[in-house]
Amino acid sequence: MRLLVVEDEVKTCAYLRKGLTEEGFVVDTAATGVDGLHLAITGDYDVVILDIMLPGASGWQVLEALRRQKQTPVVFLTARDEVANRVRGLELGADDYLVKPFAFAELVARVRTVLRRGAWREPDVLQVGTWSWTCFGAVRAEARRE
Ligand code: CA
Repeated sequence: MRLLVVEDEVKTCAYLRKGLTEEGFVVDTAATGVDGLHLAITGDYDVVILDIMLPGASGWQVLEALRRQKQTPVVFLTARDEVANRVRGLELGADDYLVKPFAFAELVARVRTVLRRGAWREPDVLQVGTWSWTCFGAVRAEARRE
């Protein structure tokens, strides 16, 4: 699993790289929004961990630009914990949100959850007559009549 960490704080970035690598992920990092966006678009990542306050382009701008091209899952990582910001991030298409300071174990758990959910993003649709079943994996299915 490949992760991209976009974080301008050198210590936090190094800490995330080390910890996530030890968890078995392949980790690339970027220190600015512009570099992060470039890597996220050109690279093939399973999850992007994205800080909001970044030099160059903010996490919001990075996510907005990324979503025009790709659906790579994004976990926001930020010191801003106001509810409005969380809502904004989710509306822009973030998959999860983690407020600093965070427990590393929680970050890993959230990344793994987003990865599992990622498998449901392109569900199998089974069409029988006027009914279609949308299968999001073994644990969740929706039946819908056209
Ligand atoms: Ca920052």
